[in-house]
Amino acid sequence: MELLLLRLSLLSLLLLSPKPISADEQDSIISRFQQYLQINTAHPNPLYQEAADFILSEANSLSLDSHTLEFVPGKPLLLLKWPGSDPSLPSILLNSHTDVVPAEHHKWAHHPFSARLEPNGRIYARGSQDMKCVGLQYFEAIRRLQASGFKPLRTVYLSFVPDEEIGGHDGAEKFAESDVFKALNVGIVLDEGLASPSEEYRAFYAERCPWWLIIKATGAPGHGAKLYDNTAMENILKSIESVRRFRASQFDLVKAGLKAEGEVVSVNMAFLKAGTQSPTGFVMNLQPSEAEAGFDIRVPPTADQESLEKRIVEEWAPTSRNMTFRFKQKVSVLDKSGRPVLTATDSLNPWWALLEEAVKKANGKLGKPEIFPASTDARYFRLQGLPAIGFSPMANTPILLHDHNEFLNKDEYLKGINIYESIIKSYSSYAEHVTAGLRDEL
Ligand SMILES: [Zn+2]
Repeated sequence: MELLLLRLSLLSLLLLSPKPISADEQDSIISRFQQYLQINTAHPNPLYQEAADFILSEANSLSLDSHTLEFVPGKPLLLLKWPGSDPSLPSILLNSHTDVVPAEHHKWAHHPFSARLEPNGRIYARGSQDMKCVGLQYFEAIRRLQASGFKPLRTVYLSFVPDEEIGGHDGAEKFAESDVFKALNVGIVLDEGLASPSEEYRAFYAERCPWWLIIKATGAPGHGAKLYDNTAMENILKSIESVRRFRASQFDLVKAGLKAEGEVVSVNMAFLKAGTQSPTGFVMNLQPSEAEAGFDIRVPPTADQESLEKRIVEEWAPTSRNMTFRFKQKVSVLDKSGRPVLTATDSLNPWWALLEEAVKKANGKLGKPEIFPASTDARYFRLQGLPAIGFSPMANTPILLHDHNEFLNKDEYLKGINIYESIIKSYSSYAEHVTAGLRDEL
């Protein structure tokens, strides 16, 4: 009996899985991906208009309604709509950013904007992982769903936003705060995740917040031969040692397998500025009166923000040692009402379970929910009280975002299209009204 049940469930899984992509279809899919990758949208001069033209032509080929929003001139944000049959239900938003980080061309095996396809299936390009793949996978999944005759119940929106790589202030941040966005009545946002070297896909429910801390020590200058207390150098070194011990304690938790990378506070020293300069280097027989050190700290929303602040005041920059500190950037882990900025992964949030199920139906496996180690645009949507999940379907793939020779294998790219077909189908068919409750709970 059990065997029969197992067979039946395997059979139903096969019947529900998206149809395999034919060889003919594959060629045109890969060529569209290459075209998008070949548009150089790297900072500081991203070719946003070219990218917008390409996206609009794709949207037209799928008969999606399109709007070009410019919260800041020269930075187009494309908003596309696949109308659902029940507009009263909250909609689905599939977000992706059109910009990429710069690439050092001469350090790459192939030109980063050639989108070269190697015989082993790897497509080399800046943006192949982060995150032009996802933007076009949304399109391809919709193309296949339309061809199969599927009609969404909920409206599906796609947003292609500028500037994520430089903070998203002129892109997703303004969009999420706009009246246009409110009118979309969004119930769930999908945004970018990370590649996974294993066969399990990764999904993110929150992200760490950047705190860029600069501590400064001041002390009386003195002769290089004199031993005395409270020099700037001595005091900054004491602080650095204290920061280093904290860093080690956090890193130990990761090394011991007790916490994932995104669950601990990471601290890395970004600069150390000290010494009195001379035309040939530094003055050697003088102890300087000032010294500064800068740290890139990343704080998960699950961390105790207050106790970290206390640690900075009492241990890393104590006034008792003439130390001061300032933040070059400090993003709070809490929203305006004092709640941590994160998306529920339990039964409060049906979208998480639907995601898991949809990935499974497309023959994929989803790993444990994670906290994204750096920042993405998803934060701006979570700040609106909306659930947002970071997800880029790239399994069996080394993490190469922002690295030289960023690539994505064509087979993984194609598999990802099937995964999105399954997700978009499941999300846009979900009939329950959940958003209001979810907002309250979050
Ligand atoms: Zn990205």
